[in-house]
Amino acid sequence: MTKKRALITGGAGFLGSHLCERFLAEGWEVVCMDNLITGDLHNVEHLFSNPDVHFEHRDVTEYIHVPGALDAVMHFASPASPIDYLELPIQTLKVGSLGTHKALGLARSKGSRFLLASTSECYGDPLVHPQSEDYWGNVNPVGPRGVYDEAMRFAEAMTMAYHRFHGVETRIVRIFNTYGPRMRLNDGRALPAFMSQGLCGEDLTVFGDGSQTRSFCYVDDLVEGICRLLGSEEVLPTNIGNPSEMTILEFAQTVLEMTGSDSKIVFKDLPVDDPKVRQPNIDKAKAVLGWEPQVKLRDGLERTMDYFKRRLALEPS
Ligand code: UDP
Repeated sequence: MTKKRALITGGAGFLGSHLCERFLAEGWEVVCMDNLITGDLHNVEHLFSNPDVHFEHRDVTEYIHVPGALDAVMHFASPASPIDYLELPIQTLKVGSLGTHKALGLARSKGSRFLLASTSECYGDPLVHPQSEDYWGNVNPVGPRGVYDEAMRFAEAMTMAYHRFHGVETRIVRIFNTYGPRMRLNDGRALPAFMSQGLCGEDLTVFGDGSQTRSFCYVDDLVEGICRLLGSEEVLPTNIGNPSEMTILEFAQTVLEMTGSDSKIVFKDLPVDDPKVRQPNIDKAKAVLGWEPQVKLRDGLERTMDYFKRRLALEPS
């Protein structure tokens, strides 16, 4: 029997690499495509001895050619942290818009199912809390985060157009804050910052007064939700995230305690347009996919800390 085959764009990134692993474990062949501007070969090189994985060093915003059949195209390529948006604003806009167009064109030509990795950033600084899929969001198009938020909103619109106009089988996941092994140590996001700071004995930098909230999902739970969504018939966007909400100050205190460090927490300026609250409403994922997160925050943080300790030993700050 021929194996099923998936293209995973952004396959060498944090989420992409976990997806590659999951598909391989389920007996798929995987084409892992990445231009490595934020992805890292370290995340996938342990898979290269597997003859079912093929790595393509390619930019998905250019014309993409993949020989052979493709059952699924998983579009996960994008810079995805506030520091990345500041450093790579044009690439962020291009991969969400042009890259999504190219990936959809490929899915259409191969008759593949297409899944877009969208984001809770589509809700911007939300005025509805928790956020359910029918909320249209409160996004500043011209602020620093606009390059990501608007690109992803465009990507969702493009995906729906390919579905409605070309009949492509499409799925859209709105991903909320996710953490786990293979996050970039220095991407400026809260978890890598707090964990590296704690483990290196540096002060933890909480932005603003830390009263803004987030809800953190462990990567294995996210991947399970995405796989269920791909196999489902749900075309409209679906939130996948962990609804257990906390303030960023509480999160910093938890990470600090777990690192066992005697570092202090210091307060820095709040970045522009930093959302004040964020929590997924996952009623739809529960009802349609029978999915809800299983991993408790402290368990997920332990697993993540093992990874961070290993990485920090390799790359002393
Ligand atoms: N944050 C912080 N200190 C840091 C990095 C981030 O207090 O060193 C805050 C940030 O301002 C935001 C929250 O943590 O309110 C989550 O930030 P992250 O960049 O992880 O994700 P996002 O803002 O996209 O949810």
